[in-house]
Amino acid sequence: MSRVAASTEFETVIGLEVHVELSTESKMFCACRVTFGDPPNTHVCPVCLGLPGALPVPNRRAVEYAVRAALALHCEIAPVTKFDRKNYHYPDLPKGYQISQFDRPLGTNGYLDVPLPGGGTRRVRIRRLHLEEDAGKSLHDPRLGTLVDLNRAGVPLIEIVSEPDLRSPEEARAYLQELRNVMLYTGVSDVRMEEGSLRCDANISIRPVGSDAFGTLVEVKNMNSFRAVKQALEYEAERQRAVVLSGERVVRETRHWNERAGQTTPSRSKEEAHDYRYFPEPDLVPLRLDADWVEQIRRSLPELPAERRARYERLGLSAYDASVLVDQRPLADFFDACLDRGADAKQAANWVMVELQGYLNETGETLADTRMTPEGLVALLRLIEEGTITGKIAKEIFPELVRTGGDPRSIVEARGLVQIADREALYAVVKEVLAQNPAAVEDYRKGKTNAVGFLVGQVMKATRGRANPALANELVRQALEE
Ligand SMILES: [Zn+2]
Repeated sequence: MSRVAASTEFETVIGLEVHVELSTESKMFCACRVTFGDPPNTHVCPVCLGLPGALPVPNRRAVEYAVRAALALHCEIAPVTKFDRKNYHYPDLPKGYQISQFDRPLGTNGYLDVPLPGGGTRRVRIRRLHLEEDAGKSLHDPRLGTLVDLNRAGVPLIEIVSEPDLRSPEEARAYLQELRNVMLYTGVSDVRMEEGSLRCDANISIRPVGSDAFGTLVEVKNMNSFRAVKQALEYEAERQRAVVLSGERVVRETRHWNERAGQTTPSRSKEEAHDYRYFPEPDLVPLRLDADWVEQIRRSLPELPAERRARYERLGLSAYDASVLVDQRPLADFFDACLDRGADAKQAANWVMVELQGYLNETGETLADTRMTPEGLVALLRLIEEGTITGKIAKEIFPELVRTGGDPRSIVEARGLVQIADREALYAVVKEVLAQNPAAVEDYRKGKTNAVGFLVGQVMKATRGRANPALANELVRQALEE
């Protein structure tokens, strides 16, 4: 880039490479179990250790999951695909190579429509999706030095490479969120970022707004959370901008995000030389994917997040509410179960998003930890609808309903919370309240109409929230006029 004026506006250009660990029961090329958190090196065998003479055998389920993910991302599926050796030296890779896919990836030319935080969507093209095996994990112990755990070595991964179609760190985060949703909905991965089953590297450059040319790419690694992705890319875009404005050149390099320091730093390791000397894996024949089998997988795809959001919007939910539900699949499934039982969409969405989510946030529990059932919530909504309880009472008993999972009607009756909608009974309470608040009654007679609100409040208080609010209001006015 030549000298740029300080007033130049820049645009950020981002492409992401995402690794997703597949939720298979066994590893990519051997029968070792896939687990998380087991004692180090308890799930290893000659194949995943790469011992001489050990022969890899592809895991059919892993191939199926990769095809499933590729189809959900609208990729073309290669009828014939092959495995290659990616050679590099690293302590957590004792065999010295990783089995991956080089020139014939399983999926190509896909896309993902990403809902943007400010509304609208951006279509991000997927360049490729390929299968590979994971490496092991280095553990750093202050006393013993660096130790290697190979339980993860050989776990099936897919790598999803996007085109540089993202235009801000915020969009990159939204892309990642949506990609995570798709993986979750298709069931190919549990995508737990904190357990490393979703990992992300980014290519980022900047260019003056209006320019079509790409700036110098910097690769950013080691971003371990959605928040880290956004922060790291914000830092990096700003850093590149400062470099360009000072008249210098951005250096093509790999940088690591240092979360604690809040900055990216150049990676100095030698293995970043990127000469992987790929060659076809000699122990595996090319993989032929039967067209009927692929078609069968396509037909078995569930409703995807974008379709689910669209369906919720057709039910009258706002785009924001639809996204909140879809981003948390257990809540969305719960909401759907309520709809199946005849709940009103807006009402149910409101209770799921405000009361239920509020309860979960407050207690730190997940929906599965609770006894809350769709039947319970639908029954509660029905009690409000038919006037047996007020919305206020419903909110009051809600936590008990979540904890015990009982029948809301029994809870209401046991606690004596049935709404007072009986005119005569409520009128008696109103008369009593007026007798106890002569000052407010006097105010009303002097023309201060807001005294009505105060008196209705007192009636609600006297009935512990059980009075029908509209009736209470009507009866207070009637009593004041007498
Ligand atoms: Zn093994």
